[in-house]
Parts: sequence; structure tokens; C-alpha cells
Amino acid sequence: MAKGTMAVTWTGDIYPCQLYIKSKWKMGNLRSINFNNPNKQLKSILIKVDNLKKSKNDKCLKCWIRKICNGCIARYSDEIHPIPEAFCNFQKKYCEYVIAKLAELKSDEKKWSNFISNIFNKKG
Ligand code: SF4
Repeated sequence: MAKGTMAVTWTGDIYPCQLYIKSKWKMGNLRSINFNNPNKQLKSILIKVDNLKKSKNDKCLKCWIRKICNGCIARYSDEIHPIPEAFCNFQKKYCEYVIAKLAELKSDEKKWSNFISNIFNKKG
């Protein structure tokens, strides 16, 4: 959320994410917004967005997959608290599956070599 993307409406209004297109999250408008010299409204939104990070969430700070979890917690930080267990359980199962698969590949030199080769030779 607002790390690499933002949502822009057809009128040019800018929001931190497509899930946050609500007046209280409006960052400004394409015609007037200045990220280099943010006004009070933009500063306030940027601070709120920053507070939605996993690094500022108590539950995430205690979680063993916090450094590899790719789940966006912003969807639960606006109106729904806390992050649902089912969401975290899915993230953990997904990470466990990927780690197990990587370990399986790594234990076979030929498979690992093919895997690495495929990553670096992949076109696109
Ligand atoms: S699994 Fe849940 S608690 Fe753990 S880092 Fe991801 S969102 Fe946070």
C-alpha cells in the first residue's frame, strides 16, 4: 500500500491504494499534489499509511514469517481489526509450502541447478 503503487481515480484524486478510495484517505489531486512539499492533508495520510506497516503491527512483530510474509495487512487496518487468524494461517501455510519446496529442490543438485538456471534464463 502506497509503497510502490497508489490509486488514481478518473477525476485525478489520489489514494494510497484501491481499497482506500474513501474521502478520509484522499491524498490530493494529480493537478495540485506536491510530494516534495506535502501539505497538512498529505502529511497526515502519509503518516497513517506508515503506521499500517507490518513493522508497526504488534501481531506481525511477533510472527515468525514477518520478513517473508507477502500478505497486505492494510485491508484489515482500516475498518476491520485485528488481522484475521485465517488470513495469517494462509500466509504461514503458503510460506511453509514454499520453504519446503525450496529445501526439496536444494537437496538435489541437478534440480537446484535447473531451478536457478530457469530463474535467470526466463524471458519476459
Ligand atoms: S502472517 Fe499475519 S501476523 Fe504474520 S506477518 Fe503476515 S500478516 Fe503479520
